[in-house]
Amino acid sequence: WCRSGEEFRMLRTCPVLYSKAGPPTGGWQPLSFDGGAFHLKGTGELMRALLVLRLCAWPPLVTHGLAIQAWSQRLLGSRFSGALLRASIYGQFVAGETAEEVRGCVQQLQTLSLRPLLAVPTEEEPDSAVKTGEAWYEENLSAMLRCVDLSRSLLETPGPNGNILMQLKVTALTSTRLCKELTSWVRRPGASLELSPERLAEAMDSGQDLQVSCLSTEQNQHLRASLSRLQQVAQHAQAQHVRLLVDAEYTSLNPALSLLVAALALRWNRSREGGPWVWNTYQAYLKDTYERLRRDAEAADRAGLAFGVKLVRGAYLDKERDVAQLQGTKDPTQPDYEATSQSYRRCLELMLTHVSHRGPMCHLMVASHNEESVHQATKRMWELGIPPDGPVCFGQLLGMCDHVSLALGQAGYAVYKSIPYGSLEEVIPYLIRRAQENQSVLRGARREWELLSQELRRRLLGRGLRVPS
Ligand SMILES: Cc1cc2nc3c(=O)[nH]c(=O)nc-3n(C[C@H](O)[C@H](O)[C@H](O)COP(=O)(O)OP(=O)(O)OC[C@H]3O[C@@H](n4cnc5c(N)ncnc54)[C@H](O)[C@@H]3O)c2cc1C
Repeated sequence: WCRSGEEFRMLRTCPVLYSKAGPPTGGWQPLSFDGGAFHLKGTGELMRALLVLRLCAWPPLVTHGLAIQAWSQRLLGSRFSGALLRASIYGQFVAGETAEEVRGCVQQLQTLSLRPLLAVPTEEEPDSAVKTGEAWYEENLSAMLRCVDLSRSLLETPGPNGNILMQLKVTALTSTRLCKELTSWVRRPGASLELSPERLAEAMDSGQDLQVSCLSTEQNQHLRASLSRLQQVAQHAQAQHVRLLVDAEYTSLNPALSLLVAALALRWNRSREGGPWVWNTYQAYLKDTYERLRRDAEAADRAGLAFGVKLVRGAYLDKERDVAQLQGTKDPTQPDYEATSQSYRRCLELMLTHVSHRGPMCHLMVASHNEESVHQATKRMWELGIPPDGPVCFGQLLGMCDHVSLALGQAGYAVYKSIPYGSLEEVIPYLIRRAQENQSVLRGARREWELLSQELRRRLLGRGLRVPS
């Protein structure tokens, strides 16, 4: 069901509108996510995956994860409890601590036709004196710049090439407090002129003193420092050919994050720059996402800017609902899972249509573990004549849904695994918080356990021999 290599090369290299190529002859065949691709993995890896995914789906372990970690450290000593974590949750979801360890993990992924999407795990703690303040953001800036270099250098390791992507969490470079303040001003009608993307982009580019009248002197100072940090990361990333995928966070911050991304896009996503170098993330679980995505895609098209989107369902459902209830405001999230999935389907269709019209000026990451969403994407790509390794790629978390990632990779699609890295002390609290936010996903990993168990039974007991599909 593949097009010929020559056909794909032409689609990739010519800036044509993919839709003009039309669907190839012959029918579309769905990929098989039956765990067949697990034969590529070692038995030890499969056993660890099964154990860790089952443990993570046990709510008390995730809810009290930090307390359990502290308790095990006291009881077993930090060396033994560290070794235990490295052999389990850290080993499953984290690439390692040093550049060499990350390189080793990425090389292994590359042999499986998977690519890295590095993520620096940072968590602001507004009540902590250490994790706030300009010095902390400057340290994060250094970590982000190192991450750009590491992402770039990983391309030089043997394996499939392609676009180099990296995740960027804006709240590692600017405070959530300022983002909340900006959000409240952006939302006010008429107050937005002073906070236009054009004005922020101009300040980023010229390095001139920016004064926003609705902010205090201290906030203005922090805004200027934040803009300078964002500009440095974007400049370095573009110079190293690394595309920055900005994470979406809470609705109390997202309008400010989008404003900053829009400012960066004006400078770094211009058509002659070969971008998009800065992408935004759209969360389908929010009621207003489809309209926002449509507006932003059309505005980028009109302005002749390249447009990059990471499309996710959204990770902060429970917190969004709790905050809305607490503040007596309208719940911004879709009423149920099916409504979120329907929104994801519409956003996906919208973006694939844009890609088919705009070609390499529009990039999309289908960041989902959901098999139906992945099927929809591959089917529509086929129908629209979008090549598997072109401006549309797929994203899954390291250590999760390998049966989906491996099948996609083996079929020639561009698949990225989101990879956190860092020391045990830095990463474990981050992982536990992510696991708390993604409880529904971890509980939904049931199918993955079944496939893992089936493959292990086959290997260890010689039962249930697989019929190659
Ligand atoms: C590479 C990558 C990058 C990511 N970046 C971000 C990011 O920047 N920001 C972010 O927020 N998330 C991000 N995520 C996480 C993502 O939003 C999802 O939490 C996660 O991928 C689960 O969605 P799914 O499509 O994989 O799976 P599914 O299991 O099909 O969907 C689970 C999701 O459905 C939604 N849902 C579940 N129950 C309900 C309900 N009752 N009502 C309404 N909706 C419901 C929730 O969004 C939940 O996370 C990223 C994920 C990946 C793989």
